[in-house]
Amino acid sequence: MATGFDQREGFIWMNGEFVKWADAKIHVLTHGLHYASAVFEGERAYGGEIFKLNEHSERLHESARILGFEIPYSVTELNDACSELVRKQGLQNAYVRPIAWRGSEQLGVAAQETRINCAVAAWEWSSYFDPAQKLKGIRLCMAEYRRPDPLTAPSRSKACGLYTICTISKHAAEAKGYADALMLDWRGQVAEATGANIFFVKDGQLHTPTADCFLDGITRRTIMGLARDRGIEVHERAIMPEELEGFEQCFLSGTAAEVTPVSEIGPHRFVVGEIAKTLMNDYYAIVQPKHAVAAE
Ligand code: PMP
Repeated sequence: MATGFDQREGFIWMNGEFVKWADAKIHVLTHGLHYASAVFEGERAYGGEIFKLNEHSERLHESARILGFEIPYSVTELNDACSELVRKQGLQNAYVRPIAWRGSEQLGVAAQETRINCAVAAWEWSSYFDPAQKLKGIRLCMAEYRRPDPLTAPSRSKACGLYTICTISKHAAEAKGYADALMLDWRGQVAEATGANIFFVKDGQLHTPTADCFLDGITRRTIMGLARDRGIEVHERAIMPEELEGFEQCFLSGTAAEVTPVSEIGPHRFVVGEIAKTLMNDYYAIVQPKHAVAAE
C-alpha cells in the first residue's frame, strides 16, 4: 500500500500556522467527521502558481456560508496561506486542498458553539486520470445515484457531505472497469461526473448542462470562455440522456480532471475530436503561470 496521506513530509497550514505534516490532527469527536459539517476546495498549482486561487478561496467562503458557518480567515489570508504553503513545500505542479470544518466543542445536530477550523495541505501531483488514457478518452458508466434537488441538499456548496454519493458511484464504476460515472440529476437530466463537469460537442458547437443543482466548476466557466474566444457557440441547457447518442465528442472539466476526453458512456461512443483537443491545449496554455508565459 502507498504511503498514507497522514505519513508525508513537510508542513500543513492549520488554523493560522504551519504545523509538521504528521501533527495536523483532529479529535475523533469532531463535528465535521460525525455530521459532515465541512467544506473543501481542490486547487492546482502549475509552475508554483495556483490557478484562479482567489476564485477558489471565495468559493470556500461561500460553501461555508451556505452550511451556516463563517471561515475565520479572510479570502486574502487563505490565498496567502495556500501560496506560502506551495512555496514552503517547494512544489511546482501540485494539488492544493483547503478544508474548513466544525470542531469538537459541541457534538449533536446543533453545533453553533463549535470552533471553525481551517487547514490547507498541498502535494506534488500530475494527472487525475492516467495521462496515456487521457488522449484515448476515458470510459464512463451511468451512476445509480442522482444529483439532489437544491431543495433537498445545499447543492451550490462544495460540501463534504455531498461527496458520499460520488464516492459510492466512483467505486461502482471502477469495480466494473470504468474510470468514472455520469450522474443524472433529480429530474433525470445529465448532470456531471463524480468530481468533474461534462461537455458535449455536436456540429462544431458545445453543449453543457445548466449548473442549477451541481457545482458550477471554475474550470467549466474557464472552458466556456476559451470556447467563446475561439468563436465556438456554447449552449448551457438541459440535456436528456436520450441525446447522448447524437453527440460526437465529450469531455470532462475540473481542476483535477483539467480537460479529459471521454470515449464512452455506457453504449454511447465518442471520438476524441478536434474541439476537445483544442480546448485541452488552450486550457494547458492558460493555466501556465503568467511569469512563465511572459518569459517566452
Ligand atoms: N463537480 C464536482 C462534483 C467536483 O468535485 C468538481 C471538482 N471541484 C467539479 C465539478 C469541477 O469544479 P472545478 O472546475 O471548480 O474544479
